[in-house]
Amino acid sequence: MTDPRRQVPRTDAVLAELTAEVDTHGKDPVKAAIRTAQEQVRDGLITPDQVADHARAALRAAPRPVINATGVLVHTNLGRAPLSAAARAAVQAAAGTTDVEFDLATGARRRRGQSTLDALRAAVPAAQDAHVVNNNAAALLLCAIVLAGTRDILVSRGELVEIGDGFRIPDLLRSTGAHLRGVGTTNRTTVRDYTDAITGDTGFVLKVHPSNFVVSGFTSTPGVADLAGLGVPLVVDIGSGLLTPHPALPDEPDATTVLRAGASLVTASGDKLLGGPQAGLLLGAANLIERLRRHPVARAVRVDKLTLAALEATLRGPRPPVVSALEANLDDLTRRAERLAAALSERGIDAAVVASIAVVGGGGAPGVELPSAAVSLPESYAQPLRVGPTPVVGRTERGRCLLDLRSVPETDDDALLNAVLSVG
Ligand SMILES: *Cc1c(COP(=O)(O)O)cnc(C)c1O
Repeated sequence: MTDPRRQVPRTDAVLAELTAEVDTHGKDPVKAAIRTAQEQVRDGLITPDQVADHARAALRAAPRPVINATGVLVHTNLGRAPLSAAARAAVQAAAGTTDVEFDLATGARRRRGQSTLDALRAAVPAAQDAHVVNNNAAALLLCAIVLAGTRDILVSRGELVEIGDGFRIPDLLRSTGAHLRGVGTTNRTTVRDYTDAITGDTGFVLKVHPSNFVVSGFTSTPGVADLAGLGVPLVVDIGSGLLTPHPALPDEPDATTVLRAGASLVTASGDKLLGGPQAGLLLGAANLIERLRRHPVARAVRVDKLTLAALEATLRGPRPPVVSALEANLDDLTRRAERLAAALSERGIDAAVVASIAVVGGGGAPGVELPSAAVSLPESYAQPLRVGPTPVVGRTERGRCLLDLRSVPETDDDALLNAVLSVG
């Protein structure tokens, strides 16, 4: 028998099978993907008839647009907040040469992202100043390095949390060389626990919003106002990035309230409930922001011009998709589900409307249930929907594949319908 390793299909033959890919990506990237797959045949890793499929998969490896029908509004595995149309346009416009760090009127250098910072300060007047870094983890890292160094960071033991995917805030803080000092117990911490632990070697007190779980029962922990004025800076990690209170999320902290209660600094993510790009927001006392900004590490966590553009458009623009999803009313969601289910039933697909519960997700607003409506399909649809030309990720529940409409922008309804029809 001939060794399959010597039967590598010819590039032209495979290319003829990948015309759609050539249209999308251009000839050279497709050829490169074919060559890689041919190498894999020679190395005995795949069979000759798998070359086209492997090349196709490799070309698809880049992040692809997906319809999030999970009912999880901020889905970390699906890239968290989708950007608003305004933010997408801003990214597009900023992709070329921009005045990100340049004053066009005077021709001189200016603070990087000044107009984005102005938008942030306008959105949170309670903050004297603002700074933006790569993500909330970077914001905490910068605080630890600059405000504590090798000194103590005081954190309640009930707030030494893991955010997700093994990311533990205590590990991050310790990795900087700061000394993390847990105060109180898992369920109860008092102001006295903090004051007893404060020494000349305290860098700051950190309060972390335990954003992905709720402790109930015999619990208590001091509020922000109780911890302000202890003589050391108070940094509050609010997590989700609400800038002002939201009526649907009464237990979710927001930057304005926390700063008014006396926090020195607030840190938050840009791509959770704020609905913007991945970013770490730092808001609060001007002297502390200035120290953070001037430290050499600030350069290593500096934010990209595209992020600044998207963040500014999110702050100044219309409601971003995450907020629209949060505020969508149940009647509208049900009406959309009915329209989709009717169109699918008409084509002989076993589709029905069911009540559903959506959640904020992304480690935000634990325990908050958002009533929703879903299109229920046979479970066998779940996998084909994920690998179709427009991937749809639903939720499998009690033997059915549910497409929850609260996490789907209404403008994607037709794409969702077509995706299901192409499977069915
Ligand atoms: C999500 C979250 C983080 C991490 O934020 P990133 O922007 O993903 O780095 C940190 N703290 C809290 C409380 C969070 O909810």
